[in-house]
Amino acid sequence: MNKIKEKIQLKLKETTILFDEPLMNFTFTKTGGPADMLSFPKTKEEVRQIVLFCRENDIPWIVLGNASNLIVRDGGIRGMVIMLAEMNQVNVAGDKLTVDAGAKLIDTTYEALANDLAGFEFASGIPGSVGGAVFMNAGAYDGEIKDVFESVEILLPTGEFQLLTNEEMNFSYRHSALQNMKCIALQAVFALTKGDTQQIKRRMDELTELRQSKQPLEYPSCGSVFKRPEGHFTGKLIQDAGLQGLKWGGAQISEKHAGFIVNIDGATATDYVELIAHIQSVILEQFGVKLETEVRIIGEEK
Ligand code: FAD
Repeated sequence: MNKIKEKIQLKLKETTILFDEPLMNFTFTKTGGPADMLSFPKTKEEVRQIVLFCRENDIPWIVLGNASNLIVRDGGIRGMVIMLAEMNQVNVAGDKLTVDAGAKLIDTTYEALANDLAGFEFASGIPGSVGGAVFMNAGAYDGEIKDVFESVEILLPTGEFQLLTNEEMNFSYRHSALQNMKCIALQAVFALTKGDTQQIKRRMDELTELRQSKQPLEYPSCGSVFKRPEGHFTGKLIQDAGLQGLKWGGAQISEKHAGFIVNIDGATATDYVELIAHIQSVILEQFGVKLETEVRIIGEEK
C-alpha cells in the first residue's frame, strides 16, 4: 500500500486523495467501512488519469455519487473510490441544462427554476447527484430522469469518452444501461421546456411538503430500500406483515414510512443488510412477493 501511495502522490498530484477513509462520513445511512483510497477529481481529465492509473496498477475502482442510494458494507471498499462532488457545474443554454455528474440533483432543479424551465420539478427533493440519478433513472411523483434526459458523456475503463443518447440508455423503472456497464457518467444534458416561474415553484414546494410529511427525513436513511413490486406497495406489504417499527441493532423500519430503514442509534451496515434480508424473507414467506432492493449494497464484509 505504501508503494502505491508514493506512486499515486507522484502521478496524480493534482487530485485530492484520502487514504483509509471511513465512508460512513459520506453515506446517507451514516454507515459503512473505509475506502482504501478516496479521490475527488476536479476535471474530466483528472478522472481519466485516475482510471488509467488504476488500470496500469491493477487497482479496482468504483464511482460514487452523493451516496444516497448505497449501503457500503462494514469492511469497506478495496481499491479506489472516485467521488465527483468537485465536478458540479450547471450550464444553461436556452431550454437545455448541461450538468456535471457531481452536481446535486436538487441544486440542478433550482437552477432550472431560476431559468423558468419546467420539467424537473419531480426531482426537487431527490438527494442524489446527477450522475447517480442518471445511473438509477431516479424518479418521483410521476416523473423520471428519462423524461428530461437527452444525453450523457461517459468515460470507459479504457480511458475513452463516449456519448449515449436517451434511446441508448435503455431506461426503465430505476434502471439505465449504465447499470450493465463499467463506466463513469461525467456530464449529462437535459431538455426542459419554458414555463411559468410561479407555477414551477408551487409544484416544487408542494412536492417538498409531501416528502416532509411522508418521509422520515429527520433520520439518516437511504430512501426507499426496495423497488416497487408489480401490483403491490412495498410499505403496505411491510405493514401488513407486522414488521413496521422493527429494530435490528441500531437500524429500524421507519414508523413513519415502512419502505425506509432509518439509522436511529449508531446502526452498522451489517444491521441494514441483515434487516433487509429479514424483510425479504418474511414478505416472500407471507405473501409470495420477492422484494428487490433499490438501494445498492457494495463493499466487503468486516
Ligand atoms: P449513489 O448512491 O452514490 O450511487 C448509486 C449508484 O450509482 C452506485 O451504484 C454508483 O456506483 C452509481 N453512480 C453514482 N454516480 C455515478 C456516476 N457519475 N457514473 C456512474 N455511476 C454512478 N430515489 C428516487 O429515485 N426517488 C426518490 O424520490 C428518492 N428519494 C430519496 C429520499 C431520501 C431521503 C434518500 C436518502 C434517498 C432517496 N432516493 C430517491 C435515492 C437516491 O437519492 C437516488 O437513487 C439517487 O439517484 C442516487 O444518487 P447518488 O448520487 O446518491 O448515487
